[in-house]
Amino acid sequence: QRIPSDQSLTALLDEFSTSTIGPALPLLMQRTLARQITLEEIIGAGRYGSVHRGKWREDHVAVKIFSANDERSWLREIDIYQTVCLRHENILGYIAADNKDASTYTQLWLVTEYHENGSVYDYLMTHTITIPILIKMMLSIASGLCHLHMPIDSTNGKVALAHRDLKTKNILVKKDLSCCIADLGLAVKEVRSRPQCRKDPLVSNTSNQEHVDIDIQANSRVGTQRYMAPEVLDGTLNDRSFESFKAADIYALGLVYWEILRRCQTNLNENDADPYQVPYEDILPNNPTFEQMRDVVCTRKIRPPPSPRWQTHSILRHLVRLCEELWFEDPACRLSSLNIKKQLKNQMSLIENNLSNINIESQQQLTQNDGP
Ligand code: ADP
Ligand code: MG
Ligand code: MG
Repeated sequence: QRIPSDQSLTALLDEFSTSTIGPALPLLMQRTLARQITLEEIIGAGRYGSVHRGKWREDHVAVKIFSANDERSWLREIDIYQTVCLRHENILGYIAADNKDASTYTQLWLVTEYHENGSVYDYLMTHTITIPILIKMMLSIASGLCHLHMPIDSTNGKVALAHRDLKTKNILVKKDLSCCIADLGLAVKEVRSRPQCRKDPLVSNTSNQEHVDIDIQANSRVGTQRYMAPEVLDGTLNDRSFESFKAADIYALGLVYWEILRRCQTNLNENDADPYQVPYEDILPNNPTFEQMRDVVCTRKIRPPPSPRWQTHSILRHLVRLCEELWFEDPACRLSSLNIKKQLKNQMSLIENNLSNINIESQQQLTQNDGP
């Protein structure tokens, strides 16, 4: 399928994300586009191969390359990205997939939008941030997670998803320093079916109860050990309830927020940000074992320590309390992504009001000084 030679990537994606055809470009067009990409440089390595920066016409793209052995992971991640209505400013933008058969090997490509700041992990390692940026990052991640978690009820509605591998390495930093959630390969979908709507005469279930299920045989112990919720570590996660997977994401979000908070500067005159740390770095080695994680998180019930300087600042104090409400031991007590988003929106407007008050005050001072 031909792509008009003067069309830019953004225009192409806009056209198809608003079309009724589906959530992505038609498959043939995806393949055509992928085959016009030139790879430039490796920008990341993860569990399933490497991620490259590539170029399509004038635009950069990211290409995640899976080996043929990982075909299932590739298929799964594409399937998740093509979920109806998934597109959102805080979820990594999907562009195309392609399987390239060379004579001796097959390469499986997943093409997405490219973000030159890399992951939140990369960014925090080399940058500190201010409070407005802190809130911007936190709110954008909450918005992405909220969109992922929420089902949208309409004819072509969106199903609820849970990420299951949320961590700073799987969230990317956009140009304006808001973030988007990436690496959806381990996500699970909630499947709802209304038995009375089924036309299948073999289905004898006549109750009006909506049936809620999970789309894959979920192995509940996937993800990155360091970010695993207590119920994942001690095997008590109820894998028959979709809410459980969302609550485990919220625990991981608490750790992500803690990592970002540490890098926030509170003193205007000197940079007092804490050095970058991964969660539990102070008490656990690199690549902790499952048993070590369980001992710390479940048995000793340890959580990342607050930095003393956070208590001296009203907004940060509030945000630390927020973190603590995300990593409660009881999954049912953790906040929902919608609630987190609302709280952060409030903080954001407080800051914006303060800023505009400051501007008004300094403006008034200027006017007074200018007066007779
Ligand atoms: P894996 O499933 O193997 O962990 P990821 O999708 O998480 O692969 O990608 C691995 C790393 O590559 C990320 O942590 C990030 O540093 C980098 N990366 C991935 N996608 C992009 C992108 N679209 N733009 C910039 N960097 C990216
Ligand atoms: Mg990853
Ligand atoms: Mg992954």
